[in-house]
Amino acid sequence: MANPLNGADTGVSIISEAVCEAVVGRGEAFTAVESVFAAMAKGDAYNFPVVREAIGHADALYGFKSGFDRAGMVLGVKSGGYWPGNVDKNLTNHQSTVILFDPDTGKMKSIVGGNYLTAVRTAASSAVSIAHLARKDSKVLGMVGAGHQSTFQLRAAVEQRDFEKVVAWNPHPEYLPRLAAVAEELGLPFEAVDQQTLGAQADVIITITSAFEPLMMKDWVKPGTHIACMGTDTKGKQEVDPELLAAATVFTDEVAQSISIGEAQHAVASGALNVDDITPVGDVINGIHAGRSSNDEITLFDGTGVGLQDLAVASSAARLAEEQGKVNFVSL
Ligand code: NAD
Repeated sequence: MANPLNGADTGVSIISEAVCEAVVGRGEAFTAVESVFAAMAKGDAYNFPVVREAIGHADALYGFKSGFDRAGMVLGVKSGGYWPGNVDKNLTNHQSTVILFDPDTGKMKSIVGGNYLTAVRTAASSAVSIAHLARKDSKVLGMVGAGHQSTFQLRAAVEQRDFEKVVAWNPHPEYLPRLAAVAEELGLPFEAVDQQTLGAQADVIITITSAFEPLMMKDWVKPGTHIACMGTDTKGKQEVDPELLAAATVFTDEVAQSISIGEAQHAVASGALNVDDITPVGDVINGIHAGRSSNDEITLFDGTGVGLQDLAVASSAARLAEEQGKVNFVSL
């Protein structure tokens, strides 16, 4: 029935975590993230300032990431954060929900579970960087990190090149069997190694930890490596040697986040890296920047995680769920 305050009531679609998992695979996430990185680089999509606050309860960090993609006509917000005590309640520590709005009217369109989508969009981000920046002949994938995100990262990365082996190191070695199990499932030999061996063998390295100090030093990484730094998403976090950024050609999802909360924050602060030398990966996708220029060049992707990635995959989830009849509507 028409509502005098809301106009024709088409309802709000509710997309559960289970439905997100059923409808958004790695391919859909890759396409959504690649498209929104391209739109950001063209100035067609904007992330709004991030809010992230300690709420003074349950040690929780809570915040909002929002933005508008004019190219995809996606407007919304991801809200959530980090509750360290959740693990004792058998819940994931990272909790998030996406709300999408109609950009023409501001009416709420969809409420979408954001936990699975966060992992799949973060893996898609490093996968996009590998697709556009790694050497075509990359054979060995190096994983630094073995937490919740790491298996999503591994699955997405191996689809981008003909990898023949996975080498891995984690500050907590007891987590490594979970990566080993996924590598085995993917039919790839897996070896737990030290950091120097990882750098010496890997053609592509993904870092996905909660580190606050460098875990990979410049001298350990061989020429021609592509490294995707995915763990640093907060001021103070750090996964690699700032000298590695100085030696590499540096790309990112969004330059403003890269220098404030991303891996480049340290190299820029120390003067080892100039902000003008950081290129949005969207410029490579759009053909504005050539990307890798030689087989000896080290390329580094600073994947900080932007709200528009969340909105892009949530919008895909809402559309696909509706197309497949997997959606519930409620009236407000
Ligand atoms: P998790 O808690 O499941 O795993 C944490 C990982 O970091 C493990 O490998 C652990 O051994 C390691 N670790 C923990 N404390 C450490 C320390 N003090 N020093 C070094 N390593 C440490 O977390 P997760 O969900 O796998 O997330 C990993 C990281 O990725 C987090 O920092 C998270 O904030 C970040 N993240 C980034 C994005 C993005 O878009 N860039 C998205 C999601 C998560």
